[in-house]
Amino acid sequence: MNLVLAWLYPDSMSIYGDRGNVIALTRRAEWRGIALEVWRLPKGARLDQLPDLVMFGGGQDREQRLIERDFLELKGETLVRAVEEDVPVLAVCGGFQQLGHGYRDADGSSIQGLGILDASTVAPSDKARRCIGNIVVEAHLPDGDATSGGVLVGFENHGGRTRLGKCEPLGRVLKGFGNNGEDGQEGARYRYCFGTYMHGSLLPKNPWFTDYLLLQALRRKYGPEITLEPLDDALELRAQSAAIARAR
Ligand code: GLN
Repeated sequence: MNLVLAWLYPDSMSIYGDRGNVIALTRRAEWRGIALEVWRLPKGARLDQLPDLVMFGGGQDREQRLIERDFLELKGETLVRAVEEDVPVLAVCGGFQQLGHGYRDADGSSIQGLGILDASTVAPSDKARRCIGNIVVEAHLPDGDATSGGVLVGFENHGGRTRLGKCEPLGRVLKGFGNNGEDGQEGARYRYCFGTYMHGSLLPKNPWFTDYLLLQALRRKYGPEITLEPLDDALELRAQSAAIARAR
């Protein structure tokens, strides 16, 4: 079996180590003998074929502004189709904001989003009030007729406050700010498209979620009977426990 991962803006939208999400997906696939090819899609590169997975990292407001039109015009149409066809997508922070309706920065200028996630983000005019720190979230996600999930740990650093409309959150904040520091929600979910504020990077310390994304991509491509053999996650879970301890 093989998978193709579209990595959007690998050089400009990969702040706080979000490239670690691509490394985690690649390694956990390879450790099961599954080849994972990465399509690097910087500014100017068109996404015109459906991948099996998509990763869109975070970036400062400046980087988001620089890719705003490119994202809408060269990646947007295929990305919308991918989400509607249940391709798993992980978008972090700035990437999350641009999968939503958009982002209005502290100076009041707006960045237009794709609107896949019913989420809107506004940064307070007081730039000092950023949401920064270790974060712990509890997530329960649809998995066929059942659900799967557990604890997710990460690191957040965002000025934007996100409010959800009709879409579900990724999870519930146990420690940290989350979308806005008020409603206890973190991230957003629509079909298998996930937005989150969790950098860290997120996936290396949360192996269940990495496997969840891989399994959805494999089942979509090869059929619902596909399973993933368990790995020895002792090191990953020690890292997760250490992060939870730091958060608390
Ligand atoms: N513009 C965003 C914010 O500050 C993005 C920051 C990020 O991606 N870390 O809210």
